[in-house]
Amino acid sequence: MGEGMMFVRASGLRYLGAVALVGALLTGVAWSGGRPADGKPSPAVPAKPARASHLPGYNLDRNAYFGDLHVHTYLSNDAYIFNVRRTPDDAYRFARGEAIGHAGGFDIRLAGGPLDFVAVTDHAEFMSAIREAAKPDTPLHALPFTQGLFSTDPAQIQKAFTAFAVGRQTGSLPKEFNNPDIVSRAWKEVQEAAARNNQPGKFTTLVGYEYTSAPGGRNLHRNVIFRSAKVPDLPYSSSESADPENLWRTMDIWRGKGIQALAIPHNANGSDGLMFDSVRMNGQSIDRAYAELRARNEPLTEITQIKGTSETHPTLSPNDEWANFEIMDSYIGRDIKVTKFAGSYVRRALEDGLLMRDKLGINGFKLGFIGSSDTHNAAPGSVEEPNYFSKVGRTDGTADLRRSIPPYGARTWDGVPMPDPKAPTVPPSSLGGQRFSRGLGGGKFSRRDLRCPEAPGDLCHLGATHPGAVFAGYSFPADLTQRTDAVHQPMPGACPWAAI
Ligand SMILES: [Zn+2]
Ligand SMILES: [Zn+2]
Repeated sequence: MGEGMMFVRASGLRYLGAVALVGALLTGVAWSGGRPADGKPSPAVPAKPARASHLPGYNLDRNAYFGDLHVHTYLSNDAYIFNVRRTPDDAYRFARGEAIGHAGGFDIRLAGGPLDFVAVTDHAEFMSAIREAAKPDTPLHALPFTQGLFSTDPAQIQKAFTAFAVGRQTGSLPKEFNNPDIVSRAWKEVQEAAARNNQPGKFTTLVGYEYTSAPGGRNLHRNVIFRSAKVPDLPYSSSESADPENLWRTMDIWRGKGIQALAIPHNANGSDGLMFDSVRMNGQSIDRAYAELRARNEPLTEITQIKGTSETHPTLSPNDEWANFEIMDSYIGRDIKVTKFAGSYVRRALEDGLLMRDKLGINGFKLGFIGSSDTHNAAPGSVEEPNYFSKVGRTDGTADLRRSIPPYGARTWDGVPMPDPKAPTVPPSSLGGQRFSRGLGGGKFSRRDLRCPEAPGDLCHLGATHPGAVFAGYSFPADLTQRTDAVHQPMPGACPWAAI
């Protein structure tokens, strides 16, 4: 990919102290020219674009950039039900450090300074339908179903959300929801906001959306991130197919038309074994074509976010005393316990990927890691511990509502029902790379040159470090960690930044 510009940004540095390390690596796929895992060219992928010239701030050792690739606004139906009225433009303003209004009636603002890149990723399914239903002159507004969806009472909001979620999962939403014109208008709004707010080399916006598949409540969500402004007429949603394999096939078709995208799964922890399963969703065994298809379209995974970590589980890592860190042990939004942990966590998936490679010659689970917020407040990067208002609008904006403190002004938990666990906070994605802009950023993502906080150090054999950088590999010179020019050393077999 091309090289970058400008300077190392201080905005990212606020997180560096907390950044531990990360994940997987290696040669790029999708955006870096479309090589699948075995390095053979994919027939569906256009040639690698010409290399850009160096820009101000170019750094051979790469700069660190920080952003959020999982952001919902009022275009997401759940966010609207949670009283969120902030727009994609508001999300970008917030990411740049401006204050926006929270659904709870107070202003919110990043304390640590602006982000470098953001993708707004609203749910594709019936995108913006609830906002449409709120307009008095629309057919959706007249439906009995939509009455009561706009309460400001947290208990009523929860009821409305459940009614909508069940309607969506069972296919029982009124037919008026199935209006491609509504999705089309919203999708245009997403694209126009990204175009308006993109400042190459300074603040990068990426067009994206969320593919929200959850068969039987088992989470298979993906965010689909586009490399450029060239995107399909409509997002491909789980309403068309709940099987991510069909999403990847669609992405291959897009790529053949010059539309480049990658999919990033999240909350494997709520998939009950489905996300990194040992068989395909259609029940057939994994073959080489499947592994290539997956590797080509899905080089990254979101390993942590506000709904917990998907890294590992105590049953999978019994000797890891940190394996119970920020675990979410139930289906998303459902009172159903996860029982299948293999297939639900990334560390095991990396092992399974190596076995897949041995068997098929292709590793379909060679994953880079990101951490995101999944904010539904249009507030990218809003995971700062001392400045925390969680993620779902009016229902969890305060410590009291989250049950992080005893409710109703009580000073103790005596006589109070057991609370939900305090929602964890995680720093957002960080990228090791040059100054970030859309075309440049594509290479960083596909090269898996990403780091994610809170991943354990035992994934990597550490070689050398410089601020924020981790190398992994074997046969490093013995004095490497003492050398001030360590990161300049040619290290055959080593993976840049945090890679294994
Ligand atoms: Zn999701
Ligand atoms: Zn989401």
